[in-house]
Order: sequence, then C-alpha cells, then structure tokens
Amino acid sequence: MTRSSLADRAAELDADDPLAPHRKLFLDAPDDSVRAYLDGNSLGRPLAATVDTLTSFVQEQWGGRLIRGWDEGWLRLPQQIGDRLGRVALGAAEGQCVVADSTSVLLYKLARAAVAARPERTEIVVDRDNFPSDRFIVEGIARERGLTVRWLDVAYDGGATPDDVAAAVGPQTALVLLSHVAYRSGFIADVPTITRIAHDAGALVLWDLSHSVASVPAQLDAWEVDYATGCSYKYLNGGPGAPAWAYVAQRHLATFEQPILGWLGSADPFRMGSAYEPADGIRRLVSGTPPIIGMLAIQDMLSVIEGVSMDAIRAKSELLTALAVHAVDTLLEPHGVVLASPRDASRRGGHITIDHAAFATMVPELWEEGVIPDYRNPNGIRLGLSPLTTSFEDVVLTIEAIAARLDARGASSPQV
Ligand SMILES: *Cc1c(COP(=O)(O)O)cnc(C)c1O
Repeated sequence: MTRSSLADRAAELDADDPLAPHRKLFLDAPDDSVRAYLDGNSLGRPLAATVDTLTSFVQEQWGGRLIRGWDEGWLRLPQQIGDRLGRVALGAAEGQCVVADSTSVLLYKLARAAVAARPERTEIVVDRDNFPSDRFIVEGIARERGLTVRWLDVAYDGGATPDDVAAAVGPQTALVLLSHVAYRSGFIADVPTITRIAHDAGALVLWDLSHSVASVPAQLDAWEVDYATGCSYKYLNGGPGAPAWAYVAQRHLATFEQPILGWLGSADPFRMGSAYEPADGIRRLVSGTPPIIGMLAIQDMLSVIEGVSMDAIRAKSELLTALAVHAVDTLLEPHGVVLASPRDASRRGGHITIDHAAFATMVPELWEEGVIPDYRNPNGIRLGLSPLTTSFEDVVLTIEAIAARLDARGASSPQV
C-alpha cells in the first residue's frame, strides 16, 4: 500500500465502522492539544457521562447520605460491579468477581492464596517478559515462602505458549502466572490450553487480564481458570488509579486463604470480633474499606460495552491492529523498524509494539506535536488502539508522524 492509499483505506474503514458514533460519548481534550491518542491501553479516555456520575455522587450520595451511604449501597458496590463485569466482559457467573485494591496488590493476594493452596509444592512459573509487578511479586513471594521461580523465555514478538508451559510444569509446580495479553508484544496466550496443562500437573493458574479486559473477550468460567485479575483504568476507562478487579473460581472460594486479613473480609465486620473468620464467598478477598469514588466510572464504561457487545469491540480491534501492521510495513519497515508483535491477528490483542533505536528520543517529540503513543524501554513504541475511542485515521496519522520523523533523521541506520 502507498501512503495515499493507506489514508483512503483508513477513511473507508472509518466510514464503515459501526462503533464510530460511540467516539462522541468520550471527552476530548479541551485545548486541542491531542491530534491522535494511541495510549488508551494505558489510560482510557473519560466518558462524558462520568462527569455527572462523579458530581452527583459527591453532591447527593456523599454529601446527602453521609455515613448512611455505606448501609444503603456503597458496601455492596464492589461485588455488584464485579458481577456485572463478570457478565459483560469476563464470562464469569455471579459471586466470583470483586473490585478492590490495585492490580499489583491483588496479584500478591491471589498468588499467595495459590501457594497456600498447594503447600507441598515449591515452584512458581512466570515468563520473563511479563509486566514488572507480576515478576517482582512472584520473586517476593518466592523469597517469603522459600520457593523457586521457574522463568519462561518467550519470543520478542510473542509470549508463553502451551509447549513452553508443558515443559516447565510438574509435580513441583504450585502456580503458573501469565498474562492473557502480553503488555509489550500484545500476544494473546492460549488460556484454556495452558490452564489445562497446568491443571494436569496439579498446579493452579493466575491470569493477568490487564491488557485484555474489555478489549479481548474472555470466558473465565468455561476456560476453568482458577484466579484472575486486571486493571480498570485501561480499556475499562475507570480513570487514573481506579481499583482493579479479581476473580476467584467458585470451586476455590470455600477454602480460599488470602494474606491481608482486614475487617471487611471477615464474616461479620460490624461485630468487631476478637478473632478473624473469613467471609463466605468472594468478599473474603477484600481487606479494607473499598475505594468507592474510584470505582464509579467503571460502571459507565460497562453500560457502553453492554450496548455494543464484546464481539463488536474485538472485531474493530482486529481491523485496527491489521491496519496498523500494514502501515508499519509500508511506511516504517523501510527505515528498519521492526514489528515486535504477532502478525497473526487471532494471536494479537489490542496493541502492537514497534522497535527502532530512534524511538527513545522520538516519543517526547511526538507528544509535543499532539501524537500520543506509549514508549516501552528500550526501543519500543507501543500503539494502543482502544476500539471505542480510536479511529482508523488516528492510526495512519500516528504512523505517518513517526515516518516523517524517521525521514527527518535520515534514519536508515539499522534497528538495534
Ligand atoms: C497495567 C498493568 C498492571 C498495573 O498494576 P497496578 O497495580 O495498577 O499499577 C499490572 N499488570 C499488568 C500486566 C499490567 O499491564
């Protein structure tokens, strides 16, 4: 494809896009400082409806109901939103999901619970290319509990495969912790097959869905996942620091033991009893007072997703990343830019990463001109294509801006 036919193709795709009208539901930057936002997978844009949601909560709920609000509904909100998220985006039946804490903290709680449930076993399997929290938390738990981390090496444009996991698990494995969509390459792991392989070895699985939830459909119940967690401020547009969510399969709840025993995870918090007894059900994953204001915006996004369906979101996501890969091949590959993401659309989530030695200095310049992708150390630009807010024109505009800067640098130097 040539440069002008790319722009034509983007215009056609935008004209045919059934989700395009939804872009108007989200706020624009008030100052025209953003020409293309390709980082909705790090921080989703706010929905316009969220302005009212937050304002009316402060005025009517917090201001009007004061302490009575907890009894009148706030205390039930983490599980209510969890159930709705399970239904709309995770393929999880009621009673297994809750909103709480940050993803990092939930990873710790869930991984510790897994290790506690497999007391005779000595190893945790994780891949070297997983997000830092996922790796660091596993290393910390290994130190605390005297366990060994079994590292998987994965391809720079891929992620952990069933064969990798089959070769690593055995009677010593307590837990396998992997990401559904890899935060850097965008590789989609084969969750049901890997889960089955781990189970056949007697291990438990913890899946991190931070980069897939509300972008790539999930079927946690049907895939027989044990535990899962993920972010709410990426494709769920919950806002900066919105609390994360966790899933614990029903079959594990009765014996689930997490490490941070706070009053709100106890059976009868307001009895202020002398000994901890865990709540029945998913509430036993909770530790302290839920961050209510932080979780309100998630509900607005769930309403939008309910209206369009996860399948429609995934269909547009595949078209967006396919156009991005075409544009990279056409405009950037001649400069030595390397695609660090899968070429097979069925194995690719909602973002792609491209590598070039010039990118470390280029990203601040792009931000300056209102073109906002993400930078991933050492050489990567990550293009996050959020289906409800990214247009096909945004994709081509961004890749053209990168090409123009490579042209200006006379950059035919090989990628490192
Ligand atoms: C974004 C992300 C996180 C973030 O964790 P926080 O506790 O919210 O900072 C964790 N894991 C993965 C895979 C992520 O992509």
